[in-house]
Amino acid sequence: RVVARYRRDPANMVQILREIQEVCDWISPEAIDRLQTTLGVPRTKIEGVAGFYSFFYTAPRGKYRVLFSDNITDRMLGNRALMERLCNSLWVERGKVSEDGLVSVGKTACTGMCDQGPALLVNNLAIAGLTAERIDRIAELICDKVPLGDWPAEFFKVQDNIRRVDILLSADFQPGAALLAARARAPDEGLMASNMRSWREGLPSGIGGPVAVLDEIKRANLRGRGGAGFITGLKWEACRNAPLKTGQRRIVVCNADEGEPGTFKDRVLLAKYADLVVEGMTVAAYAVGATQGFVYLRGEYRYLLDHLNAVLARRRREKLLGENILGIPGADFDIEIHVGAGAYVCGEESALIESLEGKRGTPRNRPPFPVTNGYLDQPTIVNNVETFAAAAMIALKGGDWYAGIGTKHSAGTKILSVSGDCERPGLYEYPFGVSVRHVLADCGAKDPQAVQVSGPSGICVAEAEFDRIIGFEDIPTAGAFTVFDKRRDMFEVARNYVHFFQHESCGFCTPCRVGTSLLKNLMDKLHYGAGSPYDFSEIEKLNQLLQSMSHCGLGHTACNPVLDTIAKFRPAYEKRMNQQDFTPAFDLDRALAAARQMTGRDDAAAHLSSEHGGAT
Ligand code: SF4
Repeated sequence: RVVARYRRDPANMVQILREIQEVCDWISPEAIDRLQTTLGVPRTKIEGVAGFYSFFYTAPRGKYRVLFSDNITDRMLGNRALMERLCNSLWVERGKVSEDGLVSVGKTACTGMCDQGPALLVNNLAIAGLTAERIDRIAELICDKVPLGDWPAEFFKVQDNIRRVDILLSADFQPGAALLAARARAPDEGLMASNMRSWREGLPSGIGGPVAVLDEIKRANLRGRGGAGFITGLKWEACRNAPLKTGQRRIVVCNADEGEPGTFKDRVLLAKYADLVVEGMTVAAYAVGATQGFVYLRGEYRYLLDHLNAVLARRRREKLLGENILGIPGADFDIEIHVGAGAYVCGEESALIESLEGKRGTPRNRPPFPVTNGYLDQPTIVNNVETFAAAAMIALKGGDWYAGIGTKHSAGTKILSVSGDCERPGLYEYPFGVSVRHVLADCGAKDPQAVQVSGPSGICVAEAEFDRIIGFEDIPTAGAFTVFDKRRDMFEVARNYVHFFQHESCGFCTPCRVGTSLLKNLMDKLHYGAGSPYDFSEIEKLNQLLQSMSHCGLGHTACNPVLDTIAKFRPAYEKRMNQQDFTPAFDLDRALAAARQMTGRDDAAAHLSSEHGGAT
């Protein structure tokens, strides 16, 4: 039934596997056998896809699969102690399945609940605001085998925590308003209708209608809100001008895979402003001549799926989506939601497209770019959730209005996801140009020493730089704004981020796969007190390797948190440089410790180093 619902299309492989797991708790060899037959896809390919995503299980992981969020803010809020408490209550070892096969407890990178952590996922549904009492109740529910649907509803309640609003978060948006405004930009109804009819074929250059909308987006100087800041109007224009082969169409993709630790703004936009986002996608479809759209929703936001599907269904009934939009024959555009399965790298647009096509989320070689050769080789635009929300407001109020907000080089507003050491974590929307100091005052940060802006791949802003501004001309950001007060050890912050990159490296290219592991080992070595001054040059060498040889941005930026914190918090590293001589990051003696313990052979002769009295 699942396969039939997805039209027996291998491009829906990720969704099919997800639904199979939701029903069967894991993806069994029998399920893969049946998929091989019904989809006509080689078994190795299905296994390759299932093995790529961290939320898919090809071995039983229990009826209840608990994953604790392990972002730095969860750590600061005591997630490790809570995880131990749950493991102890359930008699299960971390990372393992309980002996009765009922439950597994592990950790995942970040669940996008940094404003209300600590958090966990149980069977991919988020529970935030964890306390010891809540953990004890969860343990009871699991032991009593209570179905998730009967767990207390308040456990699954996610707060929006909107703290400061501006043009997007205050938008009292009437569904359809932006589309009507776009329609009004056509010089006459006849031209509008002909433009809408030719939506399917993609439009040549013309006057009014889609071209006018595109001009407004360009005039607004809207830049992508996913972090890279590419000019949205140019991206849309390139897609619109890309030739279509027979049977092809143009595609609009909303990238709602916000996996950067510390970011959660898209979660709130989709929960509370879904009409604004979907309308922005529809405006984009109109401007570029697309007929098919996708929302790629990160797996951690699975709880939003029913809500989003309800919004899409209502919009179809209201003729704001689907066939004959606004009642105009030929104006067709519809949206499907694809749910991710726990792969940070899928936030990269070409990896996301691979995942949408039912494959492993490996970033593609570029060029060609998605605007000409995207989803199933068709012209495709991929934009961030916030970009589409802004596009809807631009269609409604015009490019000049939007360009007048913010700074000369950064038009409009930016929504910041504020978390960490502050009294009021949550969403803050500001016109671009706001200073870091201003945001810190608004969120009630006491005694801050640093802010990590834009997540691990972003910038660590130290106290002396708090007058720097949020904007493409100074500090560009996808939205994360994580505050660290003076109690925090910035070395450990960087180490957490390095572990994140090592875990999330997709393994496709050797420099990143190996380089992130070496970097992690190096930071762990410093953590254990075995660092020496030589390690600074080792880190620099690794950075050069990752920068020059990695295939995608993850590898390019993996050393950023370390280099930034070395430059700004060097004493945190120097106090760990206890050795005079260089010691390799891989400590064979330490690695053998567990085996020695298991075999009961931990005498001096079994050790490798001469200082232990053994052979070197
Ligand atoms: Fe994968 Fe890392 Fe290579 Fe990117 S740089 S493709 S994440 S291995």
